[in-house]
Amino acid sequence: MHKLIFATNNPHKLKEIKQILKDEFDISSLREIGFGEDIPETGTTLDQNASLKSKVIHDKFNLDVFADDTGLEVEVLDNDPGVYSARYAGEDGNSEANIKKLLLKLEGQKNRKARFRTVISLIINNKEYLFEGVANGSISRKKHGDSGFGYDPVFFPEGYHKSFAQMTPEEKNKISHRAKAMAKLVQFLKKGTY
Ligand code: IMP
Repeated sequence: MHKLIFATNNPHKLKEIKQILKDEFDISSLREIGFGEDIPETGTTLDQNASLKSKVIHDKFNLDVFADDTGLEVEVLDNDPGVYSARYAGEDGNSEANIKKLLLKLEGQKNRKARFRTVISLIINNKEYLFEGVANGSISRKKHGDSGFGYDPVFFPEGYHKSFAQMTPEEKNKISHRAKAMAKLVQFLKKGTY
């Protein structure tokens, strides 16, 4: 099996991606390769942050690696919170506070169109490739469901009458931004033209 480092320590994302790729790739997280530092996400775009993370690990370990960065882009908020999705309410990774702030910003707003966008940076054989996945949908007026993570309870994907947090991991993995970006990554790796 092809060994790849996934430059993350987020257990939810790791679980999701290991499940998506379990038949094709042997994925190791940063913790599993003994990298315990935090990589500061100083970029102003998803592309920059994904690149920055894969490059730090590639430079240090000289292994094939990929990193992803995701943002929730809300149309009426000029694509905010975007690259700042995790830190929207200030405290890094506080989903409750992030959702609360988002719902407040959208109070009384009819246009609730939003999308999740994932960018993956893959460095393989010393070359970088970028892949993108998008899930279109809308932001609900209150939370629905309690599985998943982040903004899942308020994100209703297009064509569904339930939120990401009301879906099983398998259901979400079929249509999610990350799954779509990952599918492009897998297709590229299987083609073997790197
Ligand atoms: P990251 O770049 O994947 O760490 O994502 C940044 C932030 O976007 C996370 O902290 C979450 O708040 C949000 N996010 C990313 N992916 C998802 C998802 O699949 N569902 C809900 N929120 C997500």
